[in-house]
Amino acid sequence: MAKKVAIIGSGVGGLCCGIRLAHAGFDVSIYEKEAGPGGVIQYCEDPDTGIQFDQFATIGIHPKEYYTVFQEADLDPHKYFKGKVLDEFYKVFSADGRSYLLSKNYWEDVEGFEAFFGEPIGNYETFVNAFTSKYHAANRSLLTKPLWSGRQLANPKLMKAALALKPLRSAEHEIHQCITSQTLRDFLLFQTFYMGLSPQHLSNVYASIPAVSQSEGLLYVRGGMGAYASALVQAFYDLGGHLYCNRTITSIKMDGSKAIGLQVDHEFVPADIVVSNADVTFTMQNLLPQAKQANKAGKSTMSCSVFVLRLALETAFPMLSTHNIVLPQSTQAEMEAVSEGKLPGSPPLYIYYQSHLDSASKNTCASCINIMVRVPNRGAYQAWDSTTTQKLKELCIQALIDITGIKHLRDSIISQSMSTPLDLENQYNCWQGAAFGLAPSYFQSVLFRPQLKQKGTTQLYFVGSSIHPGSGISIVMKGAKLTAQQIILDARGE
Ligand SMILES: Cc1cc2nc3c(=O)[nH]c(=O)nc-3n(C[C@H](O)[C@H](O)[C@H](O)COP(=O)(O)OP(=O)(O)OC[C@H]3O[C@@H](n4cnc5c(N)ncnc54)[C@H](O)[C@@H]3O)c2cc1C
Repeated sequence: MAKKVAIIGSGVGGLCCGIRLAHAGFDVSIYEKEAGPGGVIQYCEDPDTGIQFDQFATIGIHPKEYYTVFQEADLDPHKYFKGKVLDEFYKVFSADGRSYLLSKNYWEDVEGFEAFFGEPIGNYETFVNAFTSKYHAANRSLLTKPLWSGRQLANPKLMKAALALKPLRSAEHEIHQCITSQTLRDFLLFQTFYMGLSPQHLSNVYASIPAVSQSEGLLYVRGGMGAYASALVQAFYDLGGHLYCNRTITSIKMDGSKAIGLQVDHEFVPADIVVSNADVTFTMQNLLPQAKQANKAGKSTMSCSVFVLRLALETAFPMLSTHNIVLPQSTQAEMEAVSEGKLPGSPPLYIYYQSHLDSASKNTCASCINIMVRVPNRGAYQAWDSTTTQKLKELCIQALIDITGIKHLRDSIISQSMSTPLDLENQYNCWQGAAFGLAPSYFQSVLFRPQLKQKGTTQLYFVGSSIHPGSGISIVMKGAKLTAQQIILDARGE
């Protein structure tokens, strides 16, 4: 009989692990506390107008990874979602009021690129090539390797590969070394901040995010990232998986060191294998009875959080691209302030203009826009009252007016909604409302990050942002593959 796997949570990690295990012949059930699956990549709908938005994640970094989970489960990804690598990369708005649309092939407009960033692009090309190579080296030696067992950790080849990446230099240091233009530096540093830690405290290995984004381009899934979540759900169903929404797991049932099932609301559901896709710190603190583990987990440092304003407007914005970055004068100081627990004053912004590509079919308005601001997590800043949210909302709207020049923009707002760190904490159990799981600091990365299984327990596994190899959709998908592979090996007794 097929072994029963119970997965807590239907984020990218839970769904991808579920797809791989269902494909391998396991009897997989996913239990999700929310009404809809997908975790932080699902849609949200305005209750009054029915207008649909991507709730949080929007940028498809590492396009190929989005197809792998389907292909490796013998499914045709093109039957599940329509993806396209965008020719347009980012539109950058600089502090002096200028803007520039970077193409995926930036060398097609060398003069425009140089004129905007104010430096020759030679350094940029070197940077892109060097850090794309670094990503591939890290991918081969670390991101695709499970690092939970003593044997793996003691492997001298692994140590050598890790040291060859020279991980101790910061992303900020390396970008400053390679690039002289302040605007270009800010643009690159802001992209490393996607990891949720200021580039000053982040290993230079993460400078590969802007490099690989430039060299591989960004994937756009037709319908937005929520459509990708739906594609994963459909694949899971097609492989015979069971998904139960509105089901909250209140504890993982253990028999000594062995996981034997879940407490789902008030019902015990037995399982041969338990996988937690809920944030690992939340899992340790709330779902596992062992107080010893809970104490250790509580000391983790979390990544920053995000404030999101979603606007549906009657106005169209031909001056925006799909992905837009607004850089203030003091981009680096603003990022640092967030790490210190301060609310940003004039922060760098990421603006997602989905209607640039998708004429939001289900939506009746002209434009759907998400504006995102990196903010401190709830461990560092607690006062998420209406004064704070109102201030951030105004800041976002004013920034949109400033860069678009549309003075009457407020009059054309049809609907608006916001998400704060409190929502990430309450809705998805993101620990301290952190958007990207555990902060990827030196002592919480690679060998030091929580791994897919814990020593001293059996039949219990983990997957998701806070687990090695880390956060971001494509990286969580790699982690889901590692977890599924380990479960399959353990089940065979290998
Ligand atoms: C604002 C924001 C913007 C982002 N932007 C991008 C981006 O543009 N590109 C990118 O690549 N990455 C982005 N990321 C990061 C990326 O989305 C995440 O790393 C990834 O989606 C996390 O997936 P996950 O499976 O680890 O967790 P989650 O998506 O958090 O899923 C965990 C699931 O577990 C459920 N759960 C928790 N506790 C329980 C319980 N007790 N019982 C039942 N269910 C439970 C939750 O409800 C949730 O559905 C962004 C993240 C955020 C928050």
